[in-house]
Amino acid sequence: MAADRFAARRQKLLHGLKGTGADALLVTNFTNVTYLTGFSGDDSFLLVSKAATVLISDGRYTTQIGKECPGLDRCIRSQKESTIAATAGVICQARVQKLGVESESLTVAEHEKLAAALKSQTLIPVAGAVEELRLIKDAEELVEIRKAVRQAEKGFEVLRAELRGELSELEVANNLEYSMRQFGARGASFPPIIAVGARAALPHARPTSCRISEADFVLIDWGASATSGYKSDLTRVLVTGKISPKLEKLYRVVLNAQLAGIAAIRLGVRCCDVDAAARRVVDEAGFGKHFNHGLGHGVGLDIHEGLRFNAVSTEELKPGMIMTVEPGVYFEGWGGVRIEDDVLVTRTGCEVLTSTPKEFEQSIIQ
Ligand code: ZN
Ligand code: ZN
Repeated sequence: MAADRFAARRQKLLHGLKGTGADALLVTNFTNVTYLTGFSGDDSFLLVSKAATVLISDGRYTTQIGKECPGLDRCIRSQKESTIAATAGVICQARVQKLGVESESLTVAEHEKLAAALKSQTLIPVAGAVEELRLIKDAEELVEIRKAVRQAEKGFEVLRAELRGELSELEVANNLEYSMRQFGARGASFPPIIAVGARAALPHARPTSCRISEADFVLIDWGASATSGYKSDLTRVLVTGKISPKLEKLYRVVLNAQLAGIAAIRLGVRCCDVDAAARRVVDEAGFGKHFNHGLGHGVGLDIHEGLRFNAVSTEELKPGMIMTVEPGVYFEGWGGVRIEDDVLVTRTGCEVLTSTPKEFEQSIIQ
């Protein structure tokens, strides 16, 4: 059953290649290889052509490939042979003439070597063919993303219950990652951001030895990666000290902006219009220039993939897409507030997959 699902994706990929002039695709983006085969390792390429599908890998992965992709043809290169040489051999054997290569992943050096080894074939750059398929999540992918959401939220519940002033950002990050694993995650979906007070003004702050008690609030941006590789991505701000009127005001503006963004999500709506719906709320409150990033991004096997909610994306939403909605307002030297949830586009509107409480009152830790 599972094998059929991957074969169906490869079939769709071949169909999608028709307009490119290529009759096969060499998949070199490891995440795309996973998406098309179920193989979870790295350092392996996949040839997809009408006549053959071959995973090109090395001896470290022989057993794993047998388990994860039974029935898939493989070429396990010897230690003396380079990946490119083995790949060229597979391509010749499959009698591919017009080889599509993933232009966003194959390096210039690899391209040169491949072209040198394949004198009678034409290499055709292809961008985004697999990524296009990954935009719409199927039922099995949804199950995995819901799992990653649950693992992240359970881990956060533990963090919240055990949060103490003497803990450093690094310790909190470490504990959070640990508890997500306790709930079945492979690990964090990206290094968690734990940003105390003024440090929350940096949208991508790295945890430091700064202690929770050094300010009145902490911003936490985190997610889990399920064992399948599917990811979740959330942000919450917890009030750990005295409640400042400025924090409360910003929090309510950001939350209202986020709710307005979510309310705008339904099939056929352009990404820029969802961004605008949230941004309007921040603008009207007078903080427009302090919301200095896009509203959100697609999430799946990669933490950032697919579409973006920003001012320029005119792509339209379709059922099965999963997007984050994460407005933020930042003041250098003071800190920032961001609230982020993961949202599934459905046939009738949308479904917020994350359920960690986010009302201001619920963010206050006693
Ligand atoms: Zn995030
Ligand atoms: Zn995000």
